[in-house]
Amino acid sequence: MEEAGDVVFRLNAPGQVLFASKRAVALIASPHDLQGDLLATHVAMADQPALKAALAEVLQALAPSLVEVRLKTPEHEVWFELRVSCFLNQDQVPELLVVGRDMSVQHATEERLRHMATHDGLTELPNRLLLSDRIRMVIANARRSGQGFAVATVGLDGFKKVNDGLGHPVGDAVLRMAAARLRKTLRDSDTLARVGGDEFVAVLPGTSTEAQIKLVTGRLIATLQSPFEVDSHTIYVGASVGVSVYPHHAEDEVRLVALADAAMGRAKETGKARCVVYSPKHSGPPEHDISLEAAMFQAVREGEFLLYYQPIVDARTREIQGFETLMRWKHPTLGMVPPARFIPIAETNGLINLLGAWALKAASVQLKQFEEVAKRRLYISVNISPRQFRNDKFLDVLDDALAFSGLSGEQLVLEITEGTLMVDPIHAETILSKMALRKARIAIDDFGTGYSSLAYLKRFPISVLKIDRTFIRDLPGSQKDGAICNAVLDLAKHLDLSVVAEGVETEEQLHYLDDRGCQYIQGYLTGKPMPANVAMTALKESTYANLLPEELRQVHQ
Ligand code: C2E
Ligand code: CA
Ligand code: CA
Repeated sequence: MEEAGDVVFRLNAPGQVLFASKRAVALIASPHDLQGDLLATHVAMADQPALKAALAEVLQALAPSLVEVRLKTPEHEVWFELRVSCFLNQDQVPELLVVGRDMSVQHATEERLRHMATHDGLTELPNRLLLSDRIRMVIANARRSGQGFAVATVGLDGFKKVNDGLGHPVGDAVLRMAAARLRKTLRDSDTLARVGGDEFVAVLPGTSTEAQIKLVTGRLIATLQSPFEVDSHTIYVGASVGVSVYPHHAEDEVRLVALADAAMGRAKETGKARCVVYSPKHSGPPEHDISLEAAMFQAVREGEFLLYYQPIVDARTREIQGFETLMRWKHPTLGMVPPARFIPIAETNGLINLLGAWALKAASVQLKQFEEVAKRRLYISVNISPRQFRNDKFLDVLDDALAFSGLSGEQLVLEITEGTLMVDPIHAETILSKMALRKARIAIDDFGTGYSSLAYLKRFPISVLKIDRTFIRDLPGSQKDGAICNAVLDLAKHLDLSVVAEGVETEEQLHYLDDRGCQYIQGYLTGKPMPANVAMTALKESTYANLLPEELRQVHQ
């Protein structure tokens, strides 16, 4: 025990120290310091109840127990994992043996991880996650005390010019300096978070009157007005500030930030370098969008998202070739929320990565089932949003879906828009070539609506063009739309691409497209988006419909 690297204590049943090992003494300073009650003198106050309970339990159950506590040393507190066991001494009196292992390294690592998950790496300020925790806490306090508080969104004016003109390293330096200056004008009890490229949010407990708000935001604006010196550049940025007040403007955290943001937008529009307090005439995002966002997190947990499948058929035979996967949100009270409403929100808050990964995997598995029913090979088309496409993990997500479902790459079509490719063409090229290695095909969704140059069709490995439904809608009447469709079909033929016409609603449209060599059709005419079980029925019918009468008889027998 004397030589053990761990700290060792022997205690009597009431918790008095009878013996302490060398290491324990070295840690806690002097031998006589270690007499008396271990709990009262050497364990951090917050951890005393846990240790007390553990000691009692050990004495009662006569079984060892593990507990983590902070032991007090002269300078600070150190985390130890204490293993407590019970034995009988020579006099048959129960005593306790406590062996402690230093956990400070583990705790430091955990602490670091926690810090990384809740802080912005560049400025070390809290990130959005921690911000929303803090606001919720401040709301709880405000509710109890009846005292309001303000949320201020601070946007740097002209920061994009710094980044574009002088490069990211300079931009980053400015952000770090701006963060430090802003932080300095605030009190310790205020929270300052970085929530976007050049956007900060300050939570100001106790600040709620007009005079108080003016004072604090005036300081925030002033501190960013003096120039920043970076690498011999003298850089001027300013700040526009928007403010919302609890409980006056909103009572929940999401809405408070959204309204402060709307007010900041107003400040930028009306001359910058000023503060605007929210007023209903600045509107901001509609109420339902904000509550929708909050509901989305809940919906993910509750599994309210589903996938519908819309057939993609051969224009001539009308046999189903594959399906496009379309996401649906079945909200318990709002009913079906259309993707046009929730996908953009998921794009901004990042949930799209989670939802998209799920859609890809679930649809791949579903296709296997479809194939069992159809008894032939089909493909599945999945929409990939820009943010998913940019995400580093996307290829892992793709591999996971393929491995899990057992689908082969060529049965998967990933639908992306022209805009997605053009945000960062170099990155897109790398990702697309890696997708090509997995044989997954790329379809350009809403083709013709996004980008005016066609050069990218040559540069990227693309397999499918989906003609947007706005070009189909007025066919065959509209000459202009007809010309566009013809041009796309011609282009596709020469570049060896398949074409899917979207939004085909009438027989006339189908014939028009078929006559001009459009091979695949998707639209209400040949099948609306439908749940998987309905799609299975459609598949059976589609398969039968294309059998010759002779074969059909055999199937029915
Ligand atoms: P999109 O990819 O262009 O999807 C086609 C949309 O056209 C679907 O709307 C579909 O229901 C609709 N549609 C199909 N045939 C017809 C027709 O004959 N007539 C008319 N009027 N409409 C037709 P939906 O399901 O509301 O989806 C809207 C958009 O939401 C999709 O546009 C897509 O961009 C996005 N979306 C849907 N699911 C997902 C998903 O899982 N991930 C991502 N990132 N986006 C998705
Ligand atoms: Ca699509
Ligand atoms: Ca489309």
